[in-house]
Amino acid sequence: ILQEFHMFENLSDKIMTSLKKVRGQHKISEANIEEVIKEIRLSLLEADVNFKVVKTFIDKVKEKALGQDVLTNVNPGQMFVKIVHDELVNVLGGGAVDINVRENPSVIFLVGLQGAGKTTSAAKLSLYIRQKLNKKPGLVPADIYRPAAIDQLQVLGKQNNIPTFPTQVGMKPEEILEKAKQWARDNMVEVVIVDTAGRLQIDEDLMGELGRLKEIWTPQEILLVADAMLGQQSVNVAEGFHKRLNLTGLVLTKVDGDARGGAALSIREVTGIPIKFLGIGEKVTALEVFHPDRLAGRILD
Ligand code: GDP
Repeated sequence: ILQEFHMFENLSDKIMTSLKKVRGQHKISEANIEEVIKEIRLSLLEADVNFKVVKTFIDKVKEKALGQDVLTNVNPGQMFVKIVHDELVNVLGGGAVDINVRENPSVIFLVGLQGAGKTTSAAKLSLYIRQKLNKKPGLVPADIYRPAAIDQLQVLGKQNNIPTFPTQVGMKPEEILEKAKQWARDNMVEVVIVDTAGRLQIDEDLMGELGRLKEIWTPQEILLVADAMLGQQSVNVAEGFHKRLNLTGLVLTKVDGDARGGAALSIREVTGIPIKFLGIGEKVTALEVFHPDRLAGRILD
């Protein structure tokens, strides 16, 4: 497993140790399978995966492993490993979900709590849009409560040659967004990325402001930037934002961190919101499109 996915290293090691007991075996018993499933269940719980998610996952694996012809298969160990892999992919959302940038311009709001990595992710996303989607991105700093965020985004925009709306001290987010419409036309920006304000916690003011911004310029995407290091708390944060804003996706940051990766593995199943990107480092290039099968493959590798 790669360093960028540090969060899943421990879990991966444990699951692989358990799977070794059946992988490559040509004859395994129901008891063998039961034992390995029990160990995997424990490893997932220890990694802080939500207990309901663990239960659903384990039930499905069990049903498939004991119900299908695994035991009589010529390669039962291999077949069992594939069942675990496929169920992991399912928990993670199945397939990759693209961001919608079909409108011209398309508008993407990045929302989230302070420190989650919104501003950094805004810059990362703009590079991704230019390099991989071949569209002209533009950045709109609207996190007025953390003054450094505005400078930070303007610097990142300049360093990477991304047009950035010249947000001035004293402007209100509503005014920024109104003015950014003309600015986007003038600069022929095709995908507008708005770095909205973060707070230390979800509060009415923040939600009210985001609701107003949605009315001023309806976004095609509202992505929650969530810090995977926060563990189960990040799952609660996602639920809170989703209830109020109807999120279209998640950017899960800091999966290169050393927290247990359980929250990252639970968040899709618990909230139903697709993970669209992973933040895997502090650099502007440290963003990956989220592919459930690739992550499952990395964990079971
Ligand atoms: P904001 O308050 O949500 O705008 O957060 P920032 O974008 O300023 O990020 C907060 C801190 O997290 C900064 O030190 C970033 O460098 C760091 N950060 C953001 N994303 C990642 C990531 O994916 N991995 C790591 N290791 N650090 C990150």
